Amino acid sequence: MKIFRHFLLILLLFAENSFAQTFEVLPLGVYGGLNEANISSYLVKSTSSDQYIAMDAGTLYAGLVKAKMLQNISLNPTDFLQHHVQSYFISHPHLDHISGLILNAPSLKNKTIYGLQFTTDAIVKHYFSWDTWANFGDEGEKPQLKNFHIATLQNEQPIQDSISNLKITPFILSHASPHHSTAFLIQNKDTYILYFGDTGPDRIEKSTHLENVWKYVAPLIKKKQLKAVFIETSFPNSQPDKLLFGHLTPSWLNKEFTTLANYTGKKALKNLSIVITHIKPEGDHENTIKNELKAKNPFHLKWIFPKQGVPLYF
Ligand SMILES: [Zn+2]
Ligand SMILES: [Zn+2]
Repeated sequence: MKIFRHFLLILLLFAENSFAQTFEVLPLGVYGGLNEANISSYLVKSTSSDQYIAMDAGTLYAGLVKAKMLQNISLNPTDFLQHHVQSYFISHPHLDHISGLILNAPSLKNKTIYGLQFTTDAIVKHYFSWDTWANFGDEGEKPQLKNFHIATLQNEQPIQDSISNLKITPFILSHASPHHSTAFLIQNKDTYILYFGDTGPDRIEKSTHLENVWKYVAPLIKKKQLKAVFIETSFPNSQPDKLLFGHLTPSWLNKEFTTLANYTGKKALKNLSIVITHIKPEGDHENTIKNELKAKNPFHLKWIFPKQGVPLYF
């Protein structure tokens, strides 16, 4: 009996270890438009570190004000950014993914902005320009204020972020062809989170970029190493295909998971955490999208609707 009890205890410890939380994500902005105080930005860190990386930076300051009000952080927003967020990964240069960073640029020092070439080019050309604002970067127009180092990533080439101790791999996406966006696969030891910037379905975009990412992460899902997928659902199902502008609906999202299931098998997707980002909160769209996702969930995914300033653990 005693041996049996010991065996149970060991089993329990083992189970706890393999399901231990390894990531914290603090959403600073969760919508895809309208409310400029709550648009795409997610801080990600290892649970064993106090250094975050930012996935997009639509809203920074207002999200940290909310997090502080909820007592989920203790520093004021500017000190928090200065001490805890050194690296900013931008999926694409649309303003709803970078405006918070641009507006906070004067008070930030020694930061790095990472993006694929189309992103860093647009930032240098259009935002860190003396015609529109000031050049806070270390490339392009002179004088350069150099608050930020601009680091251009290569598609599918991982980089090790020595400050957060996370490894990040970018994947190019299609976002209203011929325009692009990026997915970032974030690795913390042998666990992963996958963050998608805005993207349309492969069939509408006439692309294979999403399928390419699914193929890449399928083995990680099968081994239960991928802990969460952050992906957009901008519009409800009533949005006509010709007016998607490079975005997904609940129905198109499920079609994409059908492609993923071809690589993982259906069973492997059960209870996978899917964080729904970038809802465009016009009219009653937010409730409609949530209801449509709940009503039709053929792969038994775990839909998560993030809240500004409330940390998620995976
Ligand atoms: Zn967007
Ligand atoms: Zn966009």
